[in-house]
Amino acid sequence: MKFIADMMLGRLARWLRLYGYDTLYGIKEDDRILEVAKKEGRIILTRDSELARKARKLEVRVILIESNSFEDQVRQLMREGIQFNELFPENARCPKCNGPIVRVNKKEEIRDKVPEKVYEAYDEFYICLNCGQVYWPGKQWREMMKIDKRIRDISKLSGRDHQSEVP
Ligand SMILES: [Zn+2]
Repeated sequence: MKFIADMMLGRLARWLRLYGYDTLYGIKEDDRILEVAKKEGRIILTRDSELARKARKLEVRVILIESNSFEDQVRQLMREGIQFNELFPENARCPKCNGPIVRVNKKEEIRDKVPEKVYEAYDEFYICLNCGQVYWPGKQWREMMKIDKRIRDISKLSGRDHQSEVP
């Protein structure tokens, strides 16, 4: 499943990338979005009903996102059958550029790419093969993992029978 998100959905696009979904973001013109979606078999994610209408006319799959709230957006995608499995850096795509991320085998390779303190403090690094951004399990990463857990809690709740919530 591949996506192309409109300019209103930057946060959602970054998260889809983290969950490993190939997601284009940053194209402003509707016609260009439609063209790329059609050519590459991408699902359009948009807040714009006019763009959604045009997409349906061209028989391009589109999800008209109903809410501005990030968690509601995730909920809607789950209802559409998109899965949010546990986040693993090896499966993620770069939130900045959509490129593939791999684990760095020898940390010497990224010595000049991170601050000295970070280099000393961590042994686990990942790098985007496209833009060269380096990632490590620091504070930002831990914040991300909290959001990941919340997202997967949403998924558990929406798949669960209401009765089972009563002890
Ligand atoms: Zn990148």
